[in-house]
Amino acid sequence: MTPIGKLEDSRSNGARVSDVRKRYLDFFAKRGHTIIPSAPIVPENDPTTLFTSSGMQPLVPYLLGQEHPEGVRLADSQMSFRAEDIEEIGDNRHTTFFEMLGNWSLGDYFKNKQLPWVFEFLTSKEEGLGLDPKNLYVTVFAGDEASGMSEDTEAVGIWQELFKAKGIDAAFAKIGSEAAGYERGMQEVERIFAYDAKKNWWSRAGVPSKMPAGEPGGPDSEVFYDFGLPHDPKFGAHCHPNCDCGRFIEIGNSVFMQFIKKEDGTFGELPKKNVDFGGGLERLTAATRNNPDVFLVDVFDAARQSLTRRSGKEYTDAEATRSFRIILDHMRAASFMLASGITPGNSEQPYVLRRLIRRSIREADKLGIKEAVLAEVAEGYGAAYADQYPFVAENAAFIREQLEKEEAQFRKTLAHGMRELEKMGQEIDAFTLFTTYGFPVELTEEIAKERGITLDMTAVHAKMKEHQEKSRAGAAQKFAGGLADHQAATIRYHTAHHLLLKALQKVLGPDVHQRGSNITSERLRIDFSSPAKMTDEQKAEVEKIVNDAIDAALPVTRTVMAKEDAEKLGAEHEFGASYPEQVSVYSVGPKEASEADPKFAQAFSIEFCGGPHVANTSELGEEGKRFKIQKEEASSSGVRRIKAVLQ
Ligand SMILES: [Zn+2]
Ligand SMILES: [Zn+2]
Repeated sequence: MTPIGKLEDSRSNGARVSDVRKRYLDFFAKRGHTIIPSAPIVPENDPTTLFTSSGMQPLVPYLLGQEHPEGVRLADSQMSFRAEDIEEIGDNRHTTFFEMLGNWSLGDYFKNKQLPWVFEFLTSKEEGLGLDPKNLYVTVFAGDEASGMSEDTEAVGIWQELFKAKGIDAAFAKIGSEAAGYERGMQEVERIFAYDAKKNWWSRAGVPSKMPAGEPGGPDSEVFYDFGLPHDPKFGAHCHPNCDCGRFIEIGNSVFMQFIKKEDGTFGELPKKNVDFGGGLERLTAATRNNPDVFLVDVFDAARQSLTRRSGKEYTDAEATRSFRIILDHMRAASFMLASGITPGNSEQPYVLRRLIRRSIREADKLGIKEAVLAEVAEGYGAAYADQYPFVAENAAFIREQLEKEEAQFRKTLAHGMRELEKMGQEIDAFTLFTTYGFPVELTEEIAKERGITLDMTAVHAKMKEHQEKSRAGAAQKFAGGLADHQAATIRYHTAHHLLLKALQKVLGPDVHQRGSNITSERLRIDFSSPAKMTDEQKAEVEKIVNDAIDAALPVTRTVMAKEDAEKLGAEHEFGASYPEQVSVYSVGPKEASEADPKFAQAFSIEFCGGPHVANTSELGEEGKRFKIQKEEASSSGVRRIKAVLQ
């Protein structure tokens, strides 16, 4: 561990994001945690969600009992993206893309160790962030009468001791609901606040009464930083830690997976209790600067400066701030997506990316920037993340090319569409704008909202749906049918994906590598590096290799090994991922290994992969199914895309 000096040294300019990340990871490494790399922002084998949206998400299988190859104490900084927040961007603390610092105990330490560590990390000047404990406020679970769960008095006791050691007399207040908080407000000496299950209980299903039998859950405890702003009464009569006025900002949350719901509806203690901590890296950095605006942390500096240069406006100009924030946020997210192999398109992740780009172009236009600017703004992020995520800078040329292309196209659409929209006056017709000018419906809705015009969006969407059904070319219907079935189908496609990548390398050469992938229960899609369109013969050959591997009934096995060993075996890296020292590797085949003929030497394919997979390739051929390439097309320059099915 290299000491990085005291944070105060850089406090005048604010702590840097990379300092805070490093301090955090060093702090938990020193306390026995293995640092695991961030999972990719697009979950590889989870068709139920488009993006990784928290540090917990990739860890869920392990929180539910699966053994983690790196042990029982883990910490990381996870790239996260929340698509549902796109339209909310504009205030000083929400971003679509962010990094979540996490630490986990998988059946190891619990509350009495974890909360003191969190507090120490936040307040220690030597090893942590050196935040003034006077600015920290915490919340705990108040209990839940409906399910007979009691208040988390253990957490209250731990927090009181911690504050006391810093000379702070932390009084406890039982609040209950958020509404009660606004009504009651808070007293000067109060520092520990108990809220109901809506605020301080975690389970995948929500509050205790909503949880099915067998579901784990537990209380959580949040830490808020007081930025000392005056309360804004527009949110409620009085301020309290869960107030949305911006005085208090949540900087960390410890979830204690402590209970399991029993068949009779009561709760029992879990035999193996877990802890999950998540803290927003940008917000923690903002706290070290004592400034609640996350857009002022260093990773945004270069991008913000290029916007100032191009627009002639300052970030702090009242009419410019919101547009600045939207572009800064969206271009950072877009840079990570593009660097992860996503290209703008019309559905799923590619469409979210396209929306980010289009919204940014409109905001740039509002700032008075009439020429292409996005590639220039995005450039700043490669350098800002060079230490932790070098793949962003490595893909700089690709990011620039894609943004320039998309911006050139959409600037025309925007100009035409806006002209027509202005002509429409109060009678904005979103459907016509879309079908005639390609003007996105969401954008029309946003513009109407800004102008105080209410559109009948239900009618617009009904018309859009009718229109799409007419023009639909047999596009895949998403995820129909029973869940168990789907999961099995998705897993089969994942294994087929491994077979396909290997077959492509055999036919097109060893330089073929995965550039992106998406797997659902209905098909698989792979983007791979290759300069030329495949011939029909090549496609037939690839199909034959995959089908032969299915017919050969090869076993699929998972092995945990040192990263170095896996690399020596030539295991294929999954795209957009970086790896810990111990890795999970999936190999397909051989049918039987012997000492003379060791397992990995004869394997059909070996990939770094977290799974899951079928046990045997023969499962892919059940009911006479065959592997078939449906489509082979260009995805972007030097990248081809295949959609394939088992049918
Ligand atoms: Zn407030
Ligand atoms: Zn895989």
